[in-house]
Amino acid sequence: MKVFKFGGASINSPKAIKNIVDVIKSQEFEKLVVVVSAMGKTTNALEDILKFYVQRDIKNLDEKLRELKEYHNEIILELFGDKTDVKLYNLFDELDFQLSKEPSDNFDYDYDQIVSQGELISTKIISQYLNLQAIENRWLDARQLIRTDSNYRDAKVEWETSAEKIEHCVSEYFNFENNRVVVTQGFIGATAELSSTTLGREGSDFSAAIFGHILNAQDVTIWKDVPGLLNADPKLMPDAVLLDEISYGETVELAFFGASIIHPKTIKPLQNKKIPLRVKSFIQYNNRGSIIKDIKSKITVPCFIFKKNQALISISTLDFSFIGEENLSLIFGLFAHFGIKINLMQNSAISFSVCAEFNNIDKFYALVEELKTEFKVRYNLNMELITIRNYDEDIAKHILQNRKIYIEQRDRTTLQMVVNASNKKSVDS
Ligand code: ASP
Ligand code: MG
Repeated sequence: MKVFKFGGASINSPKAIKNIVDVIKSQEFEKLVVVVSAMGKTTNALEDILKFYVQRDIKNLDEKLRELKEYHNEIILELFGDKTDVKLYNLFDELDFQLSKEPSDNFDYDYDQIVSQGELISTKIISQYLNLQAIENRWLDARQLIRTDSNYRDAKVEWETSAEKIEHCVSEYFNFENNRVVVTQGFIGATAELSSTTLGREGSDFSAAIFGHILNAQDVTIWKDVPGLLNADPKLMPDAVLLDEISYGETVELAFFGASIIHPKTIKPLQNKKIPLRVKSFIQYNNRGSIIKDIKSKITVPCFIFKKNQALISISTLDFSFIGEENLSLIFGLFAHFGIKINLMQNSAISFSVCAEFNNIDKFYALVEELKTEFKVRYNLNMELITIRNYDEDIAKHILQNRKIYIEQRDRTTLQMVVNASNKKSVDS
């Protein structure tokens, strides 16, 4: 049994969908679980729809919804022509139903009920199209398979119940020799009350790992628009090289430092059962790609991770006293409270510096205001965090290009530098 995961970019047009059918046909498998994301930029479009829904901006809501339906309907028309199966007629019913209700007072709950529809719609289309291409399959609703808590938008998987459900539905289906393919959604699950939940943006990789873990898959493959796991983002470094084989541990480190190729939660369920994870190109689908598995050997090529949109914040006491454990506990508590992720930290006697994400500027300023009630705070915005694994001095110099280093940390394998991304001045308060 194998698990394949196809992301939004691999199914964003009729041509792309025809291609993934070729991918599936070209591969050998006994039984296959196909985990699919929403088509193209559907999740972003649903987030917009949700925003208008909550604001009760019906005009924009209708407009966006119409565009989203049109996008899917055009794909359907091209794939099926006049053979459109009746099962596709009710495709948007659940979305329409959710949007016909008044918003609740829980934004995250509404988010999951509405945004989860992207995957339900895409998988229905793909399942029907696979049938048409003689790849008979069973469409399964992941909300009947993956049980989570009710922490909407970042729901935690309840493994035991999910295992029971997946074994009951998927394993039993596969018990029959002729039943070979299951199509289901990434990213979504449901609570015990069957309210839809989502596992966090880009969470479909994690869904594939959940199915792989519970079903003891032979391997899990994530099909991407890049040749595999590379030592840098090819958009930033055109001469990036492919990493053929890499250990779970090193992959987790790269994901931790911000390499965005695989959702960070994906590795653990696979590592725990030593299930290999393949990352392959859905374009050159016969190429080997990368394999992440249980190996001891370390990669030696330098790997580069560039994280923009960082803030460097220096926090010191108002009365020139030391930053001690109690101050630190207060500071960490505030970062956690505002949901701002710390990527690097450094302390001296009277000041504590952190490099943190500031994707949400309102939250960032709210955090600074709160910190200022207890501390002196200085910050620089628009910083960049550069991480180089397996660095040497020449490489570091080359990457840096004379930019000013604000903080530098290194151990034997990893060099991290906080540098300025623009000429913006620092702000004192
Ligand atoms: N469709 C979801 C997203 O765009 C999940 C995924 O693609 O992994 O975040
Ligand atoms: Mg995606």
